[in-house]
Amino acid sequence: MRLLKLLVRRNNCVMVATHQAPVVKTYIRGIRRRYLLLGQEYGIVLRQGARNSLKIEKDNFVVTLSEMTKENFERFIEDWYRRTARKIFLKSVAKYISDSPPQIKIYKMRRAWGRCYYRKNIITINLHLVKCPEECIDYIVLHELCHFTHNDHSKDFYKMVTETDSHWKQKDARLKEFSQSRVTLLQRLHI
Ligand SMILES: [Zn+2]
Repeated sequence: MRLLKLLVRRNNCVMVATHQAPVVKTYIRGIRRRYLLLGQEYGIVLRQGARNSLKIEKDNFVVTLSEMTKENFERFIEDWYRRTARKIFLKSVAKYISDSPPQIKIYKMRRAWGRCYYRKNIITINLHLVKCPEECIDYIVLHELCHFTHNDHSKDFYKMVTETDSHWKQKDARLKEFSQSRVTLLQRLHI
């Protein structure tokens, strides 16, 4: 059974010649991987339709694809994560400041959840952070925002963080625990 599936999959992978570089199209019927968003785990239900879209139904991302290929799915899901992350991160920033918020840049980062470029008024946030519980996102955003006042990890910096959120240590611990327990789901190259 497993061998049969492998053969089918190989047959489904075709090279489509264009006048530019050849485009790989790997046809799929389902996605077995699970996805995280705001601390919740979701399965994928695939449907074919007129255009790519995603809606959340209970424990599933119901993904409609215009073309049932792995490449289309991966492009779409990453784009969806980036758009969703932007909305969630901006909402988090707005919890702390309303006037002239910094610019938010979203990257896949390997070693940091966030960084503050205080001279440029920019905060970079790890795209993978959107997979973590909301309170952990808020904690990272608060940490980076406080760097606009104290660009170090001095006593004054932590005093400022604590004055805004006295529970930040629990959130820091929860983020560490969450990211260690979901390491394979969090550290994918693809989203
Ligand atoms: Zn810091």
